[in-house]
Amino acid sequence: MAVVGIVPAAGSGERLGASGPKAFALCGGRSLLDWSLEVLEAVCDRVVVAVPAGFQGEGRVLGGASRSESVRLALAAAPEATVAVVHDAARPLITRELVQECVGALAGWDGVVAAARVSDTIKEADGSGRVVRTLDRSALWAIQTPQVFRADVLGRALDVDASVLAAATDDASLVEAAGGSVRVVEAPAENIKVTRPVDLALAEALLRARC
Ligand code: C5P
Repeated sequence: MAVVGIVPAAGSGERLGASGPKAFALCGGRSLLDWSLEVLEAVCDRVVVAVPAGFQGEGRVLGGASRSESVRLALAAAPEATVAVVHDAARPLITRELVQECVGALAGWDGVVAAARVSDTIKEADGSGRVVRTLDRSALWAIQTPQVFRADVLGRALDVDASVLAAATDDASLVEAAGGSVRVVEAPAENIKVTRPVDLALAEALLRARC
C-alpha cells in the first residue's frame, strides 16, 4: 500500500486578505502549509503539493484553475498511490491521529471524510432571503479534510470536465457522483478551516496552545 498525501495549496486566498497565496500565510510562526506538511509527511509515504505559479519545487506541482483541478494534477504526479490522503493547506490543525483514523476506516469503502456534526440549525433560503425549509440537523455533517480515497477511484472521479471540477466543493462529492461509497469520520472540533482573518487568529491561538 502506497499512501500519498495530496495537498491543494494553489488558491489565492482573496477572502483572507493576505499579501500572497493563503497556504503561505504565516500562522503561529510557520506557514499554514507547513503545519499540514509536518503531519502528512509523518503518516504518508510521500506528499505532493499543488502550488501557485512561482512556488514549484521538489514535491510540488503547479495547481489548476479550481481546487479539484489542483487535486487532479497532484494525484497525476503520484502514479504509485494506492491510497490518497487529500488535505487542504487551509486546515493547519490536522492531527496524525485523525489521518490515521481516516486511513484505517477506508477498508470496504471508496472514501472516508473527516466531518463535524452540525451544531447550528440549518435553514434553506431563496434569493430574497425567505426561508424555504429547516433541515433536520441530526443527520447533517459539515465536511472537512482530510479526505482519504482509494487512489484509483479518486483518479476516475476526477477525470471529468474542468467545469465539473470547478463546481465541486470537495473531492468526495465527485466520488459520490461516480457511484463511489463514502463515509464520515468525526473530527476534533479544532480542525477548522482558515478562510477569513478571524479564522487565522483562531487557528493561531489553537496552535500556540498546543505547544
Ligand atoms: O478557497 P478554499 O479555501 O476553498 O480552498 C481550499 C484549498 O484549495 C486551499 O488549500 C487552496 O489553496 C486550495 N486551492 C487550490 N487550487 C485552486 C483553488 C484552491 O489548490 N485553484
